[in-house]
Amino acid sequence: MNPFDRLANPWVRHLASYEPGKPIEEVARELGFSSVEGIAKLASNENPLGPSPRALDAMRKAAAEMHRYPDGSAFYLTRAVAKALAVDERSLVFGAGSNELIELLAHVFLGPGLSIVMADRAFVVYRLVAAAQNAGTIAVPMRDGFTHDLAAMAEAVTPKTRLVFIANPNNPTGTAVSPAEIEAFLKRVPDHVITVFDEAYVELLDESERPESLRYVREGRPVVVLRTFSKVYGLAGLRIGYAVAPPPCAALLHRVRQPFNVNAMALAAAEAALEDHAHVERTRRVVREGLAFFERELKALGIPFVPSKANFLLVRTGRGREVFQALQAEKVIVRPMDGYGLPDYVRITIGTPEENQQCLEALKKVLSRGVGA
Ligand SMILES: *Cc1c(COP(=O)(O)O)cnc(C)c1O
Repeated sequence: MNPFDRLANPWVRHLASYEPGKPIEEVARELGFSSVEGIAKLASNENPLGPSPRALDAMRKAAAEMHRYPDGSAFYLTRAVAKALAVDERSLVFGAGSNELIELLAHVFLGPGLSIVMADRAFVVYRLVAAAQNAGTIAVPMRDGFTHDLAAMAEAVTPKTRLVFIANPNNPTGTAVSPAEIEAFLKRVPDHVITVFDEAYVELLDESERPESLRYVREGRPVVVLRTFSKVYGLAGLRIGYAVAPPPCAALLHRVRQPFNVNAMALAAAEAALEDHAHVERTRRVVREGLAFFERELKALGIPFVPSKANFLLVRTGRGREVFQALQAEKVIVRPMDGYGLPDYVRITIGTPEENQQCLEALKKVLSRGVGA
């Protein structure tokens, strides 16, 4: 054993390392394409319309100040988000993407012998951060149709469970749980457990479908809500998201974060994006129309998929990794799902109407060749 492995925390030695995808330029080069021109990247649930134009403006202005450290208190952004969500400023903690908040939650609440509860086909990051703290993961099977089985999740909680993660809508299934189901869940779950609602796609839900998660936080219940600027605001590359938690919980998260965990460009952009209601509306429309397009066309072709409330679609194509490879050769990049235990599926992010059309044509072509069967 090399000295580093011998010296490392044993549970870290056994972690599987996250395999990031290759840069799109490199994929293009390997496939013999002269540029990334014409490649539809539909793999990471990004906003097909790009960043909020208001955020772009704010970033250009902020660029000249990049020799300064950022405002570690996120003063103006905190004020703006607190106002927009009608929550106490002391409830807000910002991070480098909401992923950082998932990690901070693990730092505060997890450790050896403790556990999280999550759905077996929910966002993988939860189990990764738990494992990094030498905590266990209790993965509860989803119901038919890939929805969270909240009753079974409440049942699965043990005296050692500290966090229950509910991604709503969930990635990669695109399914949501109803406000009534959440209400029932919170009544059942024991009070030594914090329920974390990961709401990365919540802006895409209709008002009536949106859970009252922020009300639970305002009431001081053991609930944390995670939001992000990566999806409908179109700022995934900047890395900014936040937690909304009862103030005593937020105070604990502040203790374990780095003083300058959110960069100055991200603070400026997020503040501007928050006010860019037009961009959010345009994004919602493009996503809805794109989802309707795929659902209609896939139905006509007899290709099964999971109806989605988010900006992507889980599609049962047969062997997903083969389909992913074949689509790549057609200049369409999707995400194979074997890492989620779904080897027969790919996840397709909704793109622009042109990208969606290109993806559908490519999918028809490769499936008719028998790829995946
Ligand atoms: C995309 C996504 C996020 C957002 O992650 P960031 O770190 O904010 O970019 C969080 N949770 C889920 C389920 C997601 O799909």
